[in-house]
Amino acid sequence: MVTRVTRTSSADSSGIYRRPRLILKLKRFEDLPTVLSKTKSYPTPIRMVGADYSQTRCVGGDGGTTVDTAALDKIIEFGENFVRAQAGVRVGTLVHALAERGLELPLTPEMGLISLGALAVTTLPQASHAAGTAQLSSLVTELKLITPQGKQMIVTERERDLMRVLRSSYGLLGVVHEVVLRVRPLTPVKIDYQVLSLREFVGRFSSIVNAPGAVRLHISPFNDRITVERRTLDESASLSRSGIWQIRKSVMRNVLPAFGSTVGSVLAAPGLRAAMLSGMQRALRGSTRGVVMYAHEWMRDLPLEAWKARHTYSLWAFPQADYPKVLSQYFSFCKSYYKQHRYRCNVVSGASRLHQDKGSLFSVSYSGPMFTLEPSSTGDTGWDDFLIDFNDFASSLNGTPTFNQTRALQPEHVARPFGERVKLFRALRQRTDPLNRLRNSYFAYLLG
Ligand SMILES: Cc1cc2nc3c(=O)[nH]c(=O)nc-3n(C[C@H](O)[C@H](O)[C@H](O)COP(=O)(O)OP(=O)(O)OC[C@H]3O[C@@H](n4cnc5c(N)ncnc54)[C@H](O)[C@@H]3O)c2cc1C
Repeated sequence: MVTRVTRTSSADSSGIYRRPRLILKLKRFEDLPTVLSKTKSYPTPIRMVGADYSQTRCVGGDGGTTVDTAALDKIIEFGENFVRAQAGVRVGTLVHALAERGLELPLTPEMGLISLGALAVTTLPQASHAAGTAQLSSLVTELKLITPQGKQMIVTERERDLMRVLRSSYGLLGVVHEVVLRVRPLTPVKIDYQVLSLREFVGRFSSIVNAPGAVRLHISPFNDRITVERRTLDESASLSRSGIWQIRKSVMRNVLPAFGSTVGSVLAAPGLRAAMLSGMQRALRGSTRGVVMYAHEWMRDLPLEAWKARHTYSLWAFPQADYPKVLSQYFSFCKSYYKQHRYRCNVVSGASRLHQDKGSLFSVSYSGPMFTLEPSSTGDTGWDDFLIDFNDFASSLNGTPTFNQTRALQPEHVARPFGERVKLFRALRQRTDPLNRLRNSYFAYLLG
């Protein structure tokens, strides 16, 4: 029924500690109830793994059973405004299949190696266009899962509260094997860039947030540069894709990597990085026309083995109203950290504007509009220590973290922003999984 593989190593090459006793390559979801009920054959905790690209120990094997969903890879049904697929399908595969049918997800991430199971139950904020949908899990309208007791459950968005909790459940309330996602007709996106100094950014902040479109930032504290990337849905461009707005894939392929925004792109030496950045920024300054493309065209795939990506980052979100202050303090923090420790991030920091989204319990924009801040690196020496101090910095500025993309988290970083939501989740988890069949030490530490 399943392929069983034993493993002895205590950490993978990325340094993320996992140590499952068993890794099961699940072939059929029908086998899940047996896996969940046979505690001797399949040791606790049972943890699902999708693409294995999280930045934290949220998969965390802990001497238990890690269940690999990669073989659940069927796209089951394409509708006019929905798609039904199994949990192991990768977002990149799905998005390309949708594009062939003239459809797309209302939010498209920049990298394709995300499993639909993880998309449904983790926090994946994206530069958003409108209130209500800023995390990928908010696209989920139906979930099929197996509970810790081995029962099949089907939940639709009509059960709002339950769906809200499941969309933030990280495999702690059940194992997802099938999802339905909202889709819409493929819509061209016009992309414009503006390169600003911190002072200019702060001065123009209200016009930046009030103009239509999704906003992504590329932040370079040591060069005093913030590149504002605006993505505007442009229905009319579909008629004139070869006309006024030329599709210039080369911008995505060649320019964005220099900002560190396209995953897998790294710039090793700070000196080289600074030189390339200023060159690219000069080039972009001269570019007044922008580009038009479909969202799936900017998506990148990473190596199948997560540790080969050589790109790591951490993510916090801050209230939109505070963001100019946060960014000013981030510039100062980076400079004084460098002075003291001679370390600075060797990839440009990213950021996304997030509209309010109450679709999931641990949504980082649950309480209102936010901006993320994502220091990025190749994982060079000094990065792990930097993140410890950065976490305290972010927490002291009312930052909200995620459980899958914020590294080196401590319980106090979680308790302050999530407060009552953590208590609610803990109570639910204890009721639905009293034997802790699905819980690993990472979540025990952070959520109890
Ligand atoms: C270089 C890089 C670039 C990235 N770029 C982006 C980006 O542009 N946009 C973006 O949104 N994210 C991005 N990410 C984040 C990353 O994709 C996610 O944090 C993560 O990869 C989620 O997908 P996964 O399949 O790898 O999840 P995994 O790491 O395999 O799992 C994540 C969590 O979900 C649980 N889980 C997985 N499958 C199931 C299931 N079937 N049922 C129940 N629980 C399950 C796991 O147990 C775990 O707790 C990037 C990451 C990297 C390293």
